[in-house]
Amino acid sequence: MPVQNVDNPNSIIPRKSATAPGEGAEKGLITLPGESEREVEGIGGATYLTTKLDQVVNWARGNSLWPLPFGTACCAIEFMSMVSSHYDIARFGAEVVRFSPRQADLMIVAGTIVDKIAPVLKKIYEQMPEPKYVIAMGACATSGGFYRAYHVVQGIDEIIPVDIWVPGCPPTPDGLMYGILKLKEKIERGEIRRG
Ligand code: SF4
Repeated sequence: MPVQNVDNPNSIIPRKSATAPGEGAEKGLITLPGESEREVEGIGGATYLTTKLDQVVNWARGNSLWPLPFGTACCAIEFMSMVSSHYDIARFGAEVVRFSPRQADLMIVAGTIVDKIAPVLKKIYEQMPEPKYVIAMGACATSGGFYRAYHVVQGIDEIIPVDIWVPGCPPTPDGLMYGILKLKEKIERGEIRRG
């Protein structure tokens, strides 16, 4: 079957060209090896932890993420499950869910993004203060999912930068939690990718 062209020159928001499945860079969960630099030193009989100020700041940022859910479809239900008591994301400091972009630093895009809602997503992203991070949750936000059609954004990186991709349809709550932990590692290592 020929690959369907999903580029939309009449889109109301600028979008990067979509690539056919199997072409272009693979989208998947980013994993990061190692841990942040820290040293324990013994000086004058006492033990000191030496570090750098930006490492302390990054450590604090990674452990106090305030998520803003941009839920448009079924993936949002899995997000709700993750922030509820059974999974309890509060263990990792990311339970303060906010619905104002000015009070959040982690956007979790959960669901299908169509051409009409794309400018809204971009606007809300732009209203978030720096530093800010983005998780693309699920097949739809990551690649358009099974909606290979001109009116569906074929991955939200067509319009905003993405830090972590969480695969699945839907991803499980623990899959999303794993994505948040990987983002936390990335922040603590001072790695912030911007498109
Ligand atoms: S990835 Fe699957 S579960 Fe998530 S919004 Fe798309 S269709 Fe729904």
